[in-house]
Amino acid sequence: MKLLKDIGEFGLIERISKKLKIRTKDLLVGIGDDACAFKSSKNVSLLTTDILIENVHFTLSISPEYIGWKAIASSISDIAAMGGTPKYALISIGLKETMPIKFVDRIYNGIEECCNRFKITVVGGDTVSSPECVVINVTLFGETEKKNIIRRSGAKEGDKIFVTGFLGDVSVGMISSRFFKQIPRVKEARILLKFCKLTSMIDVSDGLANEINHIAKESNVGAIIYKDKLPLSKFLLKSAHKLKKDPYDFALYGGEDYELLFTAGKDASKEKIENLTGTKITWIGEILNKDFDFAVKIIDKDGKEEKLREKAYEHFKSKTSKQIRTTDKISERN
Ligand code: ADP
Ligand code: MG
Repeated sequence: MKLLKDIGEFGLIERISKKLKIRTKDLLVGIGDDACAFKSSKNVSLLTTDILIENVHFTLSISPEYIGWKAIASSISDIAAMGGTPKYALISIGLKETMPIKFVDRIYNGIEECCNRFKITVVGGDTVSSPECVVINVTLFGETEKKNIIRRSGAKEGDKIFVTGFLGDVSVGMISSRFFKQIPRVKEARILLKFCKLTSMIDVSDGLANEINHIAKESNVGAIIYKDKLPLSKFLLKSAHKLKKDPYDFALYGGEDYELLFTAGKDASKEKIENLTGTKITWIGEILNKDFDFAVKIIDKDGKEEKLREKAYEHFKSKTSKQIRTTDKISERN
């Protein structure tokens, strides 16, 4: 088996760059120079970066294609949540010299598959040796229009709270050896911007509880979430039952869903948004005046209210690393 130390940094860069396709006419200089150069036409540029570390975000027992997909999908989700379209990526990797070249090939297969779907061009990166663990950093450039930037901070009392898709499937899937290749909600965000008066938006990467608390804090409002309205899939209910766990723990605190959580004025209708996007949309709550007893509350169908605490994983605070285990089943989650 050929290892990275057999071809070295430059051999690997050459190999990677051959794999990567150019998907835009605006690129003036791509991989192979000191920096890339491109024409930027829209009036607002968006820039985001995410880092994945072996044994924190993934283990090497996971399919490398999935690791590659996830590395870029998490940044795409951030661009979507700002109201943008992703365009260029810089991908930096730290690898062990004793790793098979095939492993890197497969990571890049996952990256390219996701880039192809979202018409993203990889325009550069950095390749270094990392003796202890694999590191992947994705920096993603996107574009939008000034009027379409959606912040976390615009929610107003009386707004409705919505979420796309299902919650908790990805986190319960990781424990049940079922991995979902999330499709970040770029299309949905762009449609929402056009047809709804969105007031705030965030992507659900750290669990719904955290994200709604972010919106409440940034917007200086309170919120109420109706527990029985939360979109739980059959897969989540079945898997949680098998694991003897509460499905709501996954839906509220699981994270990695890459769904969109957004608020819109009173007259926004779930049916209308669903028809426009062709994606499941659920109305899950309302924005309240901050002066309520709790900033963010969750209420069950019997009317029992609780504070919705932030519990998702927080780096440096949480004792255990994110539990990600081996896989055989990977499927697309749309
Ligand atoms: P420099 O010494 O200027 O940092 P490098 O030798 O690191 O240049 O990189 C050469 C070219 O290859 C650059 O265009 C860089 O962006 C690109 N590159 C390096 N590593 C990667 C990677 N992992 N993925 C994509 N492009 C890469
Ligand atoms: Mg370099």
